[in-house]
Amino acid sequence: MASANLSQRGKGKFTSEGYIYIFDKVGADQVTEFWRCEKRRQCKARVHVKDGEIVKFINVHSHAADAAQVVKQETITKLKSRAAETVEQTNQVINECVGNLTQACQGVLPTHGALRKLVRRKRKEVRGNVERL
Ligand SMILES: [Zn+2]
Repeated sequence: MASANLSQRGKGKFTSEGYIYIFDKVGADQVTEFWRCEKRRQCKARVHVKDGEIVKFINVHSHAADAAQVVKQETITKLKSRAAETVEQTNQVINECVGNLTQACQGVLPTHGALRKLVRRKRKEVRGNVERL
């Protein structure tokens, strides 16, 4: 569980109930993570996360939940980890992550070209890390 949290933190986004959160910092106990709403300019909502679960809600969101945006975020997260962890062709990575989404969900995703760029950028990043080790 701890490593899952770390990788999630590395990706910088946490999704829950139609809202997207951005990692802020780790609390004084070194275990609780503080996350803030992605729309931080207009929204003061924050959550405390422990072992991958929200343990405390702070402030109320100033906006409606957006399930489509969450699907988009989760798809991009999945796409990036698949890009990093497999040697599949770029198009195959995209199909595996996007193929079974509904038309409505596919509608909010970046274009195919943008997804291809995401896959390539992630792979470059991963290879770069390996080279630096
Ligand atoms: Zn919010």
